[in-house]
Amino acid sequence: MPRTLLAFHAHPDDEALLTSGTMARAAAEGHRVVLVVATDGELGLASQEFAADGALAGRRMAELRRSAAALGVSRVEHLGYADSGLGPEVAPDPPGATRFVRADVEEAAARLAAILTEEDVDVLLSYEPNGGYGHPDHKQVHVVGRRAAALAGTPRVLEATVPRDTICRAIDVAAKVYRFPPEFDRSSFDRAFSARSEITHRIDVRRHIAAKRASMRAHASQASADGGADRTLAAFLRIPRPLYDLVFGREWFVDPAARPGDPLRRDVFEGLP
Ligand SMILES: [Zn+2]
Repeated sequence: MPRTLLAFHAHPDDEALLTSGTMARAAAEGHRVVLVVATDGELGLASQEFAADGALAGRRMAELRRSAAALGVSRVEHLGYADSGLGPEVAPDPPGATRFVRADVEEAAARLAAILTEEDVDVLLSYEPNGGYGHPDHKQVHVVGRRAAALAGTPRVLEATVPRDTICRAIDVAAKVYRFPPEFDRSSFDRAFSARSEITHRIDVRRHIAAKRASMRAHASQASADGGADRTLAAFLRIPRPLYDLVFGREWFVDPAARPGDPLRRDVFEGLP
C-alpha cells in the first residue's frame, strides 16, 4: 500500500545527512515523499563570502531541489522562515520574514500541519529533542514537528537521530583524511543526538547509497567556503568506501510513541493502521 512520507528539516542540506537514504528508499518502494524545510539556509556557516551578494538562499534552495531530484522526492516546500544562524545572538529579522527560532510555534505548526493534512501524510520525519548538535533551528524543528503532527492527526512521527558513538566514529575517520576547520568542536558531538538505547527505528539504506551520496554532493558545492555543515558533508564524502557505506548505510529514528521493550523496527511504515 503506497504511503506518504514527509521529511521536515531546518535547512537545505540537513536532509542529506539525516534522512536522505530513508527518503530514497521510500520513493524507490513506490511511496510519495515530500520534503519541507523551515528555512532557506541563508546563514549557513559555509556562507560569508557567498552571502555577500545576497544570493546564498537561492543557491541553497537550488541545491535542495537537486538533492530532492536525486532522492525521488515529489514535492519540495519552504515553510517561509529565515535561518536563525548558529551565532551567540540571533540576527535581526530580514525584511518580510521571521527567523525560525523566533517563530510563533502555533503559527509555524499550522503551516506545516496544512501540508500534512493536504498530503494525508502517514509518517512525519522530524528531529529528536536535542536537535542533533543543538542548532536552535533544529531544536525548533523538534517542537514545531510534534505540534504540527498533533494538529494534523499524523499517525506517526519519527525523530531523526544518530547514535552518538557512530557519529563520533565517523568524525574520527573523516579527520584522518580531512582537516576540520578550527572552530569545529569534536567534543560537542559527545552530547549530541541520542544514546543507542533510545533508538526505535534503524533503517537499512545501503541499497540507496548512490542516491544518498548524490544528495550530499548536491550541497557540497559550498565546500570552498568557511566551515560548517557543508564542509562536514564534504569531509564525509571523502571517507573511502566501503567505510562510507558502513557509516552511512543506516539511518536512525526515535518514535516518541514507542513503548519500552518494543522491538527495534526496520521499516518506517511497519505497523501503521
Ligand atoms: Zn541545519
